[in-house]
Amino acid sequence: MKDTLKHRGMRNQLAEVVAAKGIEDPRVLQAIRAIPRHLFMDSSFEGHAYQDKAFPIAADQTISQPYTVAFQTELLEIQAGDKVLEIGTGSGYQTAVLLHLKAKVFTIERQLELFKKTNLFFKKMGYRPKKYVFGDGYKGLPEEAPFDGVIVTAGAPEVPKALLSQLKIGGRLVIPVGTDNQVMMRITRKSEKEFERESFGTFRFVPLLEDKN
Ligand code: SAH
Repeated sequence: MKDTLKHRGMRNQLAEVVAAKGIEDPRVLQAIRAIPRHLFMDSSFEGHAYQDKAFPIAADQTISQPYTVAFQTELLEIQAGDKVLEIGTGSGYQTAVLLHLKAKVFTIERQLELFKKTNLFFKKMGYRPKKYVFGDGYKGLPEEAPFDGVIVTAGAPEVPKALLSQLKIGGRLVIPVGTDNQVMMRITRKSEKEFERESFGTFRFVPLLEDKN
């Protein structure tokens, strides 16, 4: 598959759709205009890649809806050079958005098939996260902590404590919390022990799974 002018035109329209739903950060909208989402998906979905919808990827997972990606990214309030941990790499689309915002990205995926596939794709496309880890993101990445931002792209039954402890003071965790549906939460670390919690709308994600061993 290639990236053509037609794809670019569809991306501009997608950015308008996402903006009309309330996304304001110009850097996030620019990322949507720039990143060739169709290349992150199976070729059979190519014709749908610029609809504002989630689609299946490998291993029964989904590429998140562009609006959701934009919403979570906006909530993270990233500055260039920020260290960001992403749990649930999936197709790598959200990763590419974070890289476009010039974050230093650490990303974790627990499905081996997807991990391998996306690893090859990152290499092919020249996307360079600081680290791409195969494993359970429930535990975070203590050896690289603390982070300015942590983003979870799967529905968490509860907020993993490890992720809170790996935030810098002032750092933000953006996480959808719930089982069937999820409430988008942003938890900001105000001091060593104090966390501010804000909740936003309802979303629907595949589950965040914990590897119990
Ligand atoms: N941002 C991705 C979303 C993929 S769906 C995209 O837009 O493509 C969520 C991903 O989280 C899935 O790939 C799933 O395998 C992964 N996941 C679920 N539980 C996880 C865990 N504990 N650690 C790491 N990844 C996990």
